[in-house]
Amino acid sequence: MPTIASRVKPALFSTSIFTEMNTLAQQYNAVNLGQGKPDADTPSDIIQRLIQVSQAGRYNQYAPAPGTPALRQAVSDHAARFYNLDIDPLRGVVVTSGATEGICASIMGLVDPGDEVIIIEPFYDAYLPNILMAQAIPVYVPLHPPTWTFDPAELRAAFSQKTRVLILNSPHNPTGRVFTHEELTLIAQLCIEYDVTVIADEVYEHLVYAPSQHVPIATLPGMFERTVTISSSGKLFNTTGWKIGWVSGPPDLIDGTYRAHQFITFAVHHLSQETIAYALHLPDTYYTSFQAGYAEKRNLILSLLAESGLKALAPQGTYFVLADFSDIFTGTSREFAHYLVKEIGVASIPPDSLYSEPHAHLGQNYVRFSFCKSDESLLQAKERLAKLKK
Ligand code: PMP
Ligand code: GLN
Repeated sequence: MPTIASRVKPALFSTSIFTEMNTLAQQYNAVNLGQGKPDADTPSDIIQRLIQVSQAGRYNQYAPAPGTPALRQAVSDHAARFYNLDIDPLRGVVVTSGATEGICASIMGLVDPGDEVIIIEPFYDAYLPNILMAQAIPVYVPLHPPTWTFDPAELRAAFSQKTRVLILNSPHNPTGRVFTHEELTLIAQLCIEYDVTVIADEVYEHLVYAPSQHVPIATLPGMFERTVTISSSGKLFNTTGWKIGWVSGPPDLIDGTYRAHQFITFAVHHLSQETIAYALHLPDTYYTSFQAGYAEKRNLILSLLAESGLKALAPQGTYFVLADFSDIFTGTSREFAHYLVKEIGVASIPPDSLYSEPHAHLGQNYVRFSFCKSDESLLQAKERLAKLKK
């Protein structure tokens, strides 16, 4: 009998938690604060641009494999404008099908079978299957609740002569942490000491709440030459459906990502690339009002969680918050998420699938809520969650 490959047989390759909770949200007509899918539509000038580009007649066929010249230039301009980084638009940028493909192509292009890859837990779910498909070995460093900080000794202990890559996600999904300069400096020192490459997943780079500040690890001394940085248009322009991401860094490492990318997707959606090249050049007012809008939503979700008896630390970045339900519910995070969606009518994400087995207990009292939702949805969630206290 034909069968599926053993590589995709482990349970972590079955339905992802995001799909599972979306299905339940639909089935129970719940307010969906699960998947990080913005309610707000793409800004209208960006949509107008997409229409113009699609009528131009030049952008309906394959794009160049590394990405369109306009978007690669825009990624380079953006890095110079916000971080004073010098990215070669020709050889230092690859445009990918979302950050998701950027992560996959970078792992495939930068990690050999048997290499160790350090990931910080809880981790974005795609990292682990990608590491396993590359036949590499995951090594886990947990963030400790309730402040979601790592223990420097545990971080150091994760490094070995076999460590090839560390995947760093800051601002961090799902905890909302933005790693401090001090934390990044320790990570950087260890990466330099052990000659490790960093895959920096910075898709929430523009979603940081004062006084926290996003410091790209590539800007730290000695780090640019060992870091590939991944970002995405999905978060910044409410275009998660366009799947436009990019990987940037030193040409010698980007070459690894590019070699893999050529044979994963070859090239990605041409019209969206031309449009995002325009969007990345929007004035600073776009970026500041984007942040300000989310700062308000963050206040709204924090107040509604507090009113429902859920404990949450204000996220420093991202549009996610982890809420501790232990004062009002006895059971696992998955049981609580199921209870919430079925009985209360609010969908969330239990973080158990974002952990290795030995550390899963650290997220056991928490569920993640996304607040990239309309105020109407958040207020509806508030009404429903108020029932929890009773
Ligand atoms: N990394 C992180 C940390 C994410 O939260 C997400 C999901 N938005 C991605 C990568 C994937 O991004 P994209 O939708 O651009 O593939
Ligand atoms: N990044 C989004 C989240 O964390 C979407 C993830 C997904 O659907 N794969 O919710």
